[in-house]
Amino acid sequence: MVMGRYLVVADVHSNAEALRSVLDSADRLEPFDAIWLLGDVVGSGPAPNECIEVLSAYPFAGVSGNHDLAVLGKVSLDRFNADAAEVCRWTRCRLTLSSKRFLSDLSIRCSVGDFLLVHGSPRDPVWEYVVAASQVRMLGPWCEQRHALIGHTHRPLIAYMSRAAECRHPAAPTASVQKLEGRLMINPGSVGQPRDGDARAAYAILDTSVGEVSFHRVSYNVVAVAQSMQQAGLPVSLQRRLHVGY
Ligand code: ZN
Repeated sequence: MVMGRYLVVADVHSNAEALRSVLDSADRLEPFDAIWLLGDVVGSGPAPNECIEVLSAYPFAGVSGNHDLAVLGKVSLDRFNADAAEVCRWTRCRLTLSSKRFLSDLSIRCSVGDFLLVHGSPRDPVWEYVVAASQVRMLGPWCEQRHALIGHTHRPLIAYMSRAAECRHPAAPTASVQKLEGRLMINPGSVGQPRDGDARAAYAILDTSVGEVSFHRVSYNVVAVAQSMQQAGLPVSLQRRLHVGY
């Protein structure tokens, strides 16, 4: 059992503005002990090296996502749509040696105490999208740890792997808190490219000393990020979706 307060982030997608806002916001609530990353640090956005530098400054545990692996050439770009593949190629040419090392050192699953960390799902850590309660219950046996932390869908989610209960997509004008009871599957939502209709960056705080997880949202300068994407010549569709959170 690990005791502490952890900042849980997923799908940063090279959005350093959003990542910095998340760190400031989380730190203002109460200092955290480490960052747990659920994959896709890079891809889509304009600042891959900056995001990796920021994350590297903290005690850290984490896994890689499909975009991280594609940038390293470990999965084929054929599985991505044209815009996503274009940004993967763009990112590949710009990664510094230390950024490449950071991404290469990530595995596709990692466990910390009672928690499994994966990008997709316990069954398919790289590609599976977990969107429904029925899916979560079915995935329970694939997870050896008590709880699973996932990303990939870019939508916050909390559901039980252990009982026939509801699946919630916590939308948070204010923070929403839940006890760590039963066996939970938790997605904190996306830092750098939310897709639940809320453009603000999403993150979760896991406090194992009190047995709680809380979901949070924080605004960041979307206009500045869209401008750097434009200057970098990144796809317009990816700039637009940041404004609407989809
Ligand atoms: Zn992603």
